[in-house]
Amino acid sequence: MLTALYFAGTVVQVIVRVPYNRRRRQMPKIDRRITLAEYSLLGGLFAAMLLAPVAYAATPWLDFASYKLTPPMRKLLGGAGAVFLAAALWLFWRAHRDLGTNWSPSLEIGTEHTLVTTGVYGAIRHPMYASHLLWSIAQTLLLHNWIAGWASLVGFPTFYLWRIPAEERMMVDYFGEAYRTYCRRTGRLLPRLRGLITARKTES
Ligand code: SAH
Repeated sequence: MLTALYFAGTVVQVIVRVPYNRRRRQMPKIDRRITLAEYSLLGGLFAAMLLAPVAYAATPWLDFASYKLTPPMRKLLGGAGAVFLAAALWLFWRAHRDLGTNWSPSLEIGTEHTLVTTGVYGAIRHPMYASHLLWSIAQTLLLHNWIAGWASLVGFPTFYLWRIPAEERMMVDYFGEAYRTYCRRTGRLLPRLRGLITARKTES
């Protein structure tokens, strides 16, 4: 049941991405920073979020790493997992909607790229990565296996430490001072309280 919920979330993610992926492919690129490190990162993400859960659910390969919880504990963690999964999916959908054709699974700048600073991007710079973090927590709560359940959460720091600085360097290269100013009023994964107050003052 909890495993089925996890895969239902995966299906929703795929459905959310379909129209953005189609439109993104039509947009010519002026910069693509897809290095070996970037490919490894994307491969690792795919393995952690999909391959390990599929191996856990459909084969006996990861059985040695599974753990059993008492029924009340299972219920508690399952409930919390459902909440984290729903929050992750909402943020994932909202970030795609706000980013529109500027979205890309890797580091790219399109010919008509614009800097998005509104919607959920008005509060945080990396809502999609914040949604990955919520997803990773949901994965741990829903899949009770030391490998399939924890793979994304254990891998998240690598993602955070490598991808975000590389992406922000690229954004500074293209949007310069506008991106630096945007950074000052927003947080990476959590809203910056001081930034929100300053934004309100500027608006009024
Ligand atoms: N890091 C963001 C976006 C992930 S998609 C998030 O977590 O929500 C990655 C692509 O988004 C990158 O190729 C970059 O070109 C683009 N991007 C990131 N922030 C952006 C912004 N504020 N406005 C426009 N494009 C952005």
